[in-house]
Amino acid sequence: MKTNELIKIRKAMEKELDGKRYEHTLGVEFTAASLAMCYNASVMNAQIAGLLHDCAKCLSNDKKLSICEKYNISINEVEKRNPFLLHAKVGSFLAMHEYGIEDTDVINAILNHTTGRPGMSLLEKIVFVADYIEPARKQAPNLNEIRKLAFENLDLALVRILEDTLVYLQDQGSEGELDPMTQKTYEYYCENVKQTEG
Ligand code: FE
Ligand code: FE
Repeated sequence: MKTNELIKIRKAMEKELDGKRYEHTLGVEFTAASLAMCYNASVMNAQIAGLLHDCAKCLSNDKKLSICEKYNISINEVEKRNPFLLHAKVGSFLAMHEYGIEDTDVINAILNHTTGRPGMSLLEKIVFVADYIEPARKQAPNLNEIRKLAFENLDLALVRILEDTLVYLQDQGSEGELDPMTQKTYEYYCENVKQTEG
C-alpha cells in the first residue's frame, strides 16, 4: 500500500461519511498511527485500518442488513435487534471487496473494533484504543487518564476502556444492549493484565 492509495481511501471516506464521522475517522487514523509508532506496529496498516474502521457506519440499517443477507454474513440476535452494531462486520466486508484490502490483520482490526475479542493482535488493540481516545472524542469518563495510559500500557488502557464501556452500557439499560463479546474481551484482558503484573 502506497501513500497515494491512502489518499484515495481518505477521499472515499470523505464522500461516504458525514462530517462528524469523517472527523472522527481522521482522528482514529492519526491516533492509531501514533500508537503504532509507540508500540512498533506497522504505521501504514494502522492508518488504513483507522481510516476504514467506520466505513459502513453511515449506511442505513436496512442497507447494512441487506448487505449481510446478500453476502451471507451471519447476524446474531443482538445484532438483529441493534443493526448499528453491524457496521464493523459490514465494514470489514467492504474493506475487502470495495477498497481492496487484503491484509487479514487490517481486516480483523476493522471487524473487531467495537467489541474487541480475546487474543487480539497488536493492530487490533491499537485500532480499538484509538477509536476511544481520538482527539474528537469528548464525552467519556476518565478520558484524559486513559489517553495517557494508552501510550504507557496498551493492555491496561484496553481494560479501562472495556470497563467504562460496560458500565456505560449497563447505565443505559435496554437502550444500550450489550454484545456479549465485550464482556468476554473484558474478562480475558483482566486476567491477562493481572498475570503480567504478577
Ligand atoms: Fe465504529
Ligand atoms: Fe469509530
